[in-house]
Amino acid sequence: MNISAEPIHGLDAADLLGRQRNAYLRNGAPDLAQRKASLARLRAAVLAYRSEVKEAISADFGHRSHHETDIMEFVGVIQSIDYLSRNLRRFMKRERRHVGAFYRAGRAWVEYQPKGVIGVMAPWNYPFSLLIIPLATALAAGNRAMLKPSELTPRTSEVIRRMLADTFPADEVAVVCGGPEVGAAFSGLPFDHLLFTGSTQVGRKVMKAASENLVPVTLELGGKSPVVVARGHVNERSLGSIVFGKLANGGQTCVAPDYAFVHEDDVELFIKQFDTMVARTYPHGPTGRDYTSIVSERHYQRLVGLVDDARSRGARVVEVGVKPESARVRPHTLAPTLVVGAGDDSAIMQEEIFGPVLPVRTYRTLDEVVDYVNARPRPLALYYFGNEDNECATLLARTTSGNTGINNTLLHVAQDDLPFGGVGSSGMGAYHGIEGFRAMSHAKGVFVQGRWNLPSLLRAPFGKFADFALGFTLGASRKTERIRPGMAE
Ligand code: NAD
Repeated sequence: MNISAEPIHGLDAADLLGRQRNAYLRNGAPDLAQRKASLARLRAAVLAYRSEVKEAISADFGHRSHHETDIMEFVGVIQSIDYLSRNLRRFMKRERRHVGAFYRAGRAWVEYQPKGVIGVMAPWNYPFSLLIIPLATALAAGNRAMLKPSELTPRTSEVIRRMLADTFPADEVAVVCGGPEVGAAFSGLPFDHLLFTGSTQVGRKVMKAASENLVPVTLELGGKSPVVVARGHVNERSLGSIVFGKLANGGQTCVAPDYAFVHEDDVELFIKQFDTMVARTYPHGPTGRDYTSIVSERHYQRLVGLVDDARSRGARVVEVGVKPESARVRPHTLAPTLVVGAGDDSAIMQEEIFGPVLPVRTYRTLDEVVDYVNARPRPLALYYFGNEDNECATLLARTTSGNTGINNTLLHVAQDDLPFGGVGSSGMGAYHGIEGFRAMSHAKGVFVQGRWNLPSLLRAPFGKFADFALGFTLGASRKTERIRPGMAE
């Protein structure tokens, strides 16, 4: 099967997988020192290619600030690699497990073994970190990896392909480039694990294709992540964070606040302060060097369509921040926009926005917010601005989202020790933290029988000893059996 648009070293993707798997089976699991060496090589390559990657991303997007790429991609990648390196010894350690009285003096433990070859599929919005952090995790867990970047960021993919070809042999790490057809075939390869980051819609197809080979998947998907502002908490601190989360990368962030819930008494203040904060953050408006473009004309037109649809259904559309000098607006760059009062029937309240447009809904009681969120697919992230009081606790307890941020947006993703992943239609499984290492490892349970143990004495033909031993063993658990529901303590 030749699924690669650009064969690597004359091999197609299925052959590459075969080579990686053979190399894994031949060499076995790398030890701690080898894994740390791979991570160190990756770290050095990332820093060596930093400028090239930043140029490529900006060219792919039309424009993206180099500072933003550093903050949103390189900081995360370097932190992740360092975190994995620092914690690897602990992650790899076998874990002692309890052995029941009947099986003593046996010993039990869990050993975390590499799965083998990991497939990684990435979207275009953070085209560097969403490939490299999963790769670092795969290497830390002792695996080999094949990466499939998005076709929408071809310059970045090419730099990554070169960077990794200079750093690792193809039987350890390889990049397969191409569009949806290549993606479809890639997701049908018999990897030992597949981590897909992208839309919910494509995630479904990927899981279906992976199921043909019973390949386990981690799905990092999208959706609509709400931000809830408690009554009286429209202030500089909350608005600063919401503006950052909504407008970084032109709003093209999976965990960006998709829409806001603001108390009805605070809504005018929210609009005013949002406007002020946007003007302060982007003093040169959407033409300034710190403001990121929409990735393509098609995506730009989709966003314009969402705003027009909401407007035509009676919503109030407010362009905020410093207005662009029209002659100098870059192609497919959309000004920050608030959409107030969009109804549930408008497309903007139904599909993931993925751009610098924030619908604002009003509420009176927290119950309304909880009911609204719970009536919809589970979000990837949910944000709350307010005191850590009962209201906050209620929202946390009564809603389910991948992660939650309190008095911040996006930053939960940057916490190396926290798992990151969605729930329901926003994803399945998680990576980052020990969860990432474990997702790409097989947890092998090992039991070693002791020299003296009951099970080896309890073999047919059974006699008096068996009666005695079983009476004794089962009697020991009688105390717990006597406790009936409602009688405990
Ligand atoms: P996408 O689903 O269109 O593409 C993702 C990858 O799938 C690309 O590599 C693409 O080539 C490939 N692909 C496309 N069609 C395919 C098919 N039929 N079969 C197999 N593979 C196919 O996503 P996108 O537009 O690149 O990215 C935006 C989406 O990604 C948003 O929904 C966003 O929320 C989500 N996202 C999620 C996370 C997360 O960590 N949860 C992070 C970033 C983006």
